[in-house]
Amino acid sequence: MSVKARRADVNDTVKMSLLCEVDGSCPLCRRDLVVKKKKKNVRVFDVAHIYPLNATKHELAILTGEELLSDDIDCEENFIALCKECHKIYDTQKTVGEYRQLVAIKKEINKIKELSKVWDKQTLHKDISIVANKIGLLDGNSIEKTMLSYDALKLSDKRDETFGFINQTKVSQFILTFFIPIKEALKDLEKQEKAKSTFICSQVKSYYVLLLMKDFNQDEIFEKMTDWFMTNTGITDRSKSEVLVSFFIQNCEVYSKC
Ligand SMILES: [Zn+2]
Repeated sequence: MSVKARRADVNDTVKMSLLCEVDGSCPLCRRDLVVKKKKKNVRVFDVAHIYPLNATKHELAILTGEELLSDDIDCEENFIALCKECHKIYDTQKTVGEYRQLVAIKKEINKIKELSKVWDKQTLHKDISIVANKIGLLDGNSIEKTMLSYDALKLSDKRDETFGFINQTKVSQFILTFFIPIKEALKDLEKQEKAKSTFICSQVKSYYVLLLMKDFNQDEIFEKMTDWFMTNTGITDRSKSEVLVSFFIQNCEVYSKC
């Protein structure tokens, strides 16, 4: 009799991580993996092995030569959260097509995880908060003199329909009003040998690409970037943060096709 392979101890932390990886819905049928029952959130998913832990003869035959996510079958790299129905079907009637589909999904997840690890070590240059303070001190008279002309607005060719009309209007107005004062404030920073705007631009662009790879739409990206500016610089006024994000959309070609 063959010895059965071990089954890893999948604790709650691992389960929550797997649930987050698939954004709370089954990657095969999109069913919610957490449901409300008697006002309580109940998890209704299984942790599935993408490559089977105890492969049957049939599975060994159909998966010969297929890509493996990890040398160790019984580890997180080979796990995915599935709804109970899909898990049952996957484990009893596996097809190469479904196996490849799950491998592709998990590879994308692993890639994002790697990116996040790298990103956690990087932050937005804190001196941008000096610029934010200067914006707060501007008055109507000084702004009138530095208004950008509509012709200079580069936003319209960057947004897509997920950005929305309200965001477009808001960001356009922020750019027209604040672009020149922000550009000058950044130049001042450079003169004082503080943050370089090209450096900040590359940070903002990198964060944008990270969000894009996580499949956020443009409206969500604008939200997340505003949050990111706030947490990384200590800016407490959300609209100031939105003004800065708008500046970088214009100045660093954020939202342009990568
Ligand atoms: Zn499912």
